[in-house]
Amino acid sequence: MNSKSKGKLVLYTGSSGVGKGTIMAELLKRNPNIRLSVSNTTRAPREGEIDGVHYNFITKEQFEELIKNDGFLEYAKYCDNYYGTPKKQVEDLLGEGYDVFLEIEVQGGLQILEKYPDVLSIFILPPSMESLSRRLHRRGTEDEETINKRLGEAEREISFKNRYKYNVVNDDLDTAVNEILDILKKESK
Ligand code: 5GP
Repeated sequence: MNSKSKGKLVLYTGSSGVGKGTIMAELLKRNPNIRLSVSNTTRAPREGEIDGVHYNFITKEQFEELIKNDGFLEYAKYCDNYYGTPKKQVEDLLGEGYDVFLEIEVQGGLQILEKYPDVLSIFILPPSMESLSRRLHRRGTEDEETINKRLGEAEREISFKNRYKYNVVNDDLDTAVNEILDILKKESK
């Protein structure tokens, strides 16, 4: 339990394959006041993904029921699947004083920027589109058609980077992690 004042909401966006997850894992290790919001999705779990840890994996019907009941802070359809941030979980963690990261794509990000104009917003960029393509192929979790869809989506997403207060290039993992930890420090002064 954390008895500090209300934590900070952090909007954390970057296209598929940019290394958001790897950066996030380091941030969680290095700053115990950070929590990652666990999203709901209708996408099928990838190998090694655990329900309730990486995502709450639910059906389209369950997702649509939650939309109706105003259960989401934001949600979006991305490459044929729904993704959404459960409202209550985020509010509870912020109330407990944690800095809560929303690791979400840009459509949901724009909804958050509209609802919470003061949100601390960070956009992670690849050093180049070629490096993004290489990473998606190396990860090997998607087929060629899905990779191409995700690369097209990435270009569109990157065009929104200036709506975010901070842009961080993930060229070197340690540098990117330190940059984000510095931003958090600076913003909590
Ligand atoms: P993936 O299928 O690779 O796990 O996620 C696809 C995209 O959906 C990523 O950009 C990821 O950040 C985003 N995403 C994950 N959870 C959410 C969410 O709750 N809301 C929105 N809008 N996007 C999400």
